[in-house]
Amino acid sequence: MKLKITSLFYCVLFIIACQKPTEKEASTSAEVAKLQPIAIVIHGGAGVMSPDSFPEEKRDIYKAKLDEAISKGYEILENNGTSAEAVIATINILEDSPLFNAGKGAVFNYDGYNELDASIMDGKTQNAGAVAAVTKVKNPINLAYEVMVNSDHVMLSGKGAEDFAETRNFKFVDSTYFMTESRLKALQRAKAKETASLLDWEDSKFGTVGCVALDRNGNIVAGTSTGGMTNKRWNRIGDSPIIGAGTYANNATCGVSATGWGEYFIRIGVAHEISAQMMHAKKSLQEASEDVIMNKLENLGGDGGIVALDKDANISMVFNSQGMFRASIDKNGEKVVKIFKD
Ligand code: ASP
Repeated sequence: MKLKITSLFYCVLFIIACQKPTEKEASTSAEVAKLQPIAIVIHGGAGVMSPDSFPEEKRDIYKAKLDEAISKGYEILENNGTSAEAVIATINILEDSPLFNAGKGAVFNYDGYNELDASIMDGKTQNAGAVAAVTKVKNPINLAYEVMVNSDHVMLSGKGAEDFAETRNFKFVDSTYFMTESRLKALQRAKAKETASLLDWEDSKFGTVGCVALDRNGNIVAGTSTGGMTNKRWNRIGDSPIIGAGTYANNATCGVSATGWGEYFIRIGVAHEISAQMMHAKKSLQEASEDVIMNKLENLGGDGGIVALDKDANISMVFNSQGMFRASIDKNGEKVVKIFKD
């Protein structure tokens, strides 16, 4: 009997000892959360722009807005917000600025008004939402998010997308909200030199906006918002609202947002191709991004670039155009804001 009690005593002691957390295991969930790196990367469009044609004061204005946007997104991630919240808040700042070809500063189509496209993808669920050719929605990225989380669909367009927006209580803006002097002049210039291709890359230049974020839960979300290309016609839709072309996210690989001549990005399936090369060819994010932009896109004759990050918070910003407005904050909190190649 005594032996049995003693063995029971040691047994209980053993169980307690096994359950006693080690110093490392004793960390609070907040401390554990800190071990998961956060990072964010954005672009404000790529295009034909040389340092000479872009005066210092103008560069500073663009850089300040990129800085404001990325800092907002990072702050959300730091405070344990989700990558979706960070992407939307960051893109909203860029959409509300007339500097970029998205929201307020969207380019004009051939018929003299603005048609906006946007998309967002969640790398954890692989859910996605997109809208194309909307004309009254102030922040198209928010509507893309609504499509993702509150509809059975991935992509809605034109009036149908706006009818859906109404059911989600979106407030519309008058189409004059999107009319900026500089974009109107760009349309006039494009029309004056009307080329065989109606799209004017030279005059679209830059401005599509995109963001990819990695949050404390290891979730990657990517989003893109644009006015498309100056002088576009026939309800042309570019790569930005197309999942796999302009936007893609998969927690197992990476998140990507693209900018550039959309027709080429669609044909390559740029954003998905980068993820696929990581998944199947075991390439790093940088290797895959460089192959897709510097080889595949370049060989086809396309221009533009991507911003991307992977599950380990590695960041890539690759472009084959003269410049790309871009910024990143890496896992060490280090911020970079750039326009041209180094
Ligand atoms: N990719 C966009 C489009 O083709 C334009 C851009 O990124 O500048 O609609």
